[in-house]
Amino acid sequence: MRGGGAACAEEEDMGKKMELLRQIFGYQSFREGQERLVDAALAGRDALGIMPTGAGKSICYQLPALLLPGITLVVSPLISLMRDQVRALVQNGVRAAYLNSSLNARQYQRALQNARQGMYKLIYVAPERLLTEQFLSFAREAEISMLTVDEAHCVSQWGQDFRPSYLEITRFVELLPRRPVLTAFTATATPKVREDILELLRLQDPEVVLTGFDRKNLFFEVQRPKGKLAAVLRLLGELEGKSGIVYCSTRKTVEQLCDELQKRGFEATRYHAGLSDEERKENQEAFLFDRCRVMVATNAFGMGIDKSNVGFVIHYNMPKDLESYYQEAGRAGRDGSPARCVLLYSGRDVVTNQFLIDHAEEQSALTPEQRELVQKESRRRLKEMTFYATTQDCLRSYILRYFGEKAERFCGDCGNCTANVEWAEAGDAARALLAAVAEQEGRYGVRRTLRTLLGAEGGLAESSHWGALRGESETQLRLVCEELLRRGALVQSDGEYPVLSTGDAAVCGQILREGLRLRMLKRTAPSPARQEQPEDQALFERLRALRAEIARVQGVPAFVVFTDATLRDLCAKRPRRREELLAVQGISVKKAERYGEQFLAALETYGRERSR
Ligand code: ADP
Ligand code: ZN
Repeated sequence: MRGGGAACAEEEDMGKKMELLRQIFGYQSFREGQERLVDAALAGRDALGIMPTGAGKSICYQLPALLLPGITLVVSPLISLMRDQVRALVQNGVRAAYLNSSLNARQYQRALQNARQGMYKLIYVAPERLLTEQFLSFAREAEISMLTVDEAHCVSQWGQDFRPSYLEITRFVELLPRRPVLTAFTATATPKVREDILELLRLQDPEVVLTGFDRKNLFFEVQRPKGKLAAVLRLLGELEGKSGIVYCSTRKTVEQLCDELQKRGFEATRYHAGLSDEERKENQEAFLFDRCRVMVATNAFGMGIDKSNVGFVIHYNMPKDLESYYQEAGRAGRDGSPARCVLLYSGRDVVTNQFLIDHAEEQSALTPEQRELVQKESRRRLKEMTFYATTQDCLRSYILRYFGEKAERFCGDCGNCTANVEWAEAGDAARALLAAVAEQEGRYGVRRTLRTLLGAEGGLAESSHWGALRGESETQLRLVCEELLRRGALVQSDGEYPVLSTGDAAVCGQILREGLRLRMLKRTAPSPARQEQPEDQALFERLRALRAEIARVQGVPAFVVFTDATLRDLCAKRPRRREELLAVQGISVKKAERYGEQFLAALETYGRERSR
């Protein structure tokens, strides 16, 4: 809590915050949820912000950090995340630094020394550092007004990225002479994880802000192609001129796909944990700096990559859970421009993920009970992910419901909603499937069951259901089976050889009585091109070229200079004078000083040429 005169200081703060929002960050107004979180921190109240990737969590603690006295510590799990955040802050003239294992002993000493002398308003720190002697002795003497926990879901064993070192945060806070304001942020928190964050971080009467998870500018779709390579090539053709990421589940797939793309003349590069530090850095920069259009990568790539002009994210393989999927796909369209998120699904992806769960590297920090719980939860999440990949209903509402939000049944703006729909009567097939599974209860898997019903090779000729659905298409039957699994009429066991058994009796009963109508998608038309073109494309291109030139000279990625959204706003507003620049989205005082003249000149030249 803050000392005397707090009330008065707060009022001043409130006035100042809008000024800082404009001058330091270059935004005219807050987005949903931001102001409440900023106000809470300024008023000395703990806070938890749950907002999807791209919603703008950073400002919620960076802005109050500038107004609070002393230092704000930001606990962050990833080195690349810290580096990018600090880089962006420094661009806007904010004194910030990070303390993590990427610094050598000398650099670390120097940074701590600077911190002691009050050089920084924000310090990003890895959770493992908190309880080290050196850091602790610094922290106990410094004036720490706020402690921010980024990616706060890492504290929960129910979450997808459990990090035992996050559990040390509370101990660290206890060791400080004064308790700072605690603020926590995450993009993914199911209700259980949410409770864990509140409890394990011991937030006191926190302001909890949960903004919608919907990312309206993202177009979600699932494809089930025969050949994934061909599907990627087709998509890259449709997405010409946009840059994006293709995620694969293994290093080997990354290598192969990247080779194939390069062979065909695509500017593709690759990223996975098996490459040398040097190559990873190089490739990442090639993508960030727009020298390479396509990044082929494992999930090691992307956390903290705040590239705002990612126009698509393709998943070559299905990820292990929807948390990961939404986070990875969410790297598209961060600046609000329309973007496509395509999942290429095949049944094999489920098997691969199952294998990875069963053979997960033993995290030494976990107790046997913790490990068992983590595995069980991983299996449950994989099932939900598979349901997403196979649902014929709205994809967006599936995601939103998963994260505990209410959603319309159909959004009208995802691959499933815009596909042509046919309704198929599948009552007979469903009944036959239920009967066959009831007979063999828990002994056989999907494939063998379907083959039995079809009377085909690999089936059980001795079954009384042999050939009951002879002549039907196997693909169609598979859809029926998936629908029964989603509805809970059938359940599938875990493990390497999953088997089927009957599930919820009430659901089965209803299907036996009323039959089953299946929503069948016919994705014949290519996905709609959702290009939000700036009004004046020629001007946009010219500003883009200028941005590229400045970025090259400065040695920073283009979006660090201005995002696409800023360029679009420049095209729309056409400022003539310096003061007018500040009304453009994303132009801070520092950036106006740095780049203003050049952009004003470009706008003027363009205007003159046009009027001639
Ligand atoms: P998150 O951490 O929630 O994924 P970021 O903090 O990285 O999101 O912000 C995502 C993008 O939104 C960034 O490009 C940021 O500059 C932009 N942004 C954040 N707040 C605002 C705002 N109030 N107005 C306009 N753009 C904003
Ligand atoms: Zn939809």
